[in-house]
Amino acid sequence: MSPTPPFRIGHGYDIHRVVEGRPLVLGGVTIPWDKGLDGHSDADCLTHALADAILGAVGLPDIGHFFPNTDPSIKNINSQLILSRAAQECRKQGYNILNADCTLIAEQPKIAPWIPAIQQTLADTLSLHPSQIGLKATTNEKLGSIGATEGICAHAVVLLSKMVL
Ligand code: MG
Repeated sequence: MSPTPPFRIGHGYDIHRVVEGRPLVLGGVTIPWDKGLDGHSDADCLTHALADAILGAVGLPDIGHFFPNTDPSIKNINSQLILSRAAQECRKQGYNILNADCTLIAEQPKIAPWIPAIQQTLADTLSLHPSQIGLKATTNEKLGSIGATEGICAHAVVLLSKMVL
């Protein structure tokens, strides 16, 4: 029998390349910008980091296992579906999400005005209250590839508690 500790922590990280001709979707919210992120799905790195944090917390493989980027049927998939699946897998393992905390690192565009909408969207997908989703947006102080706006990345941590049955 596998161990079922009362709490579990998970961490996720994701990065996608900035490209022309794609929408910018972060945390399920489409943010007006003249560029977007490249990827097989909608390339929502924030949602991917959060989904991987949830899966990692229960010791499951990452989102690439559940949604392989070689599967043409999920081209441009809405990543809220990926996040929803991660939450479902987490519940199957007997755990609830207590809270998540995320950091988005983007030199451009300004994310701050969209934070409440992103918190609400992620909370809706996870059936949580927006106050359970922490989100900070920061720049990379023009350092490196993120600082040169070649990509946008995100980190996420989650805390789970064992369901009381
Ligand atoms: Mg990704």
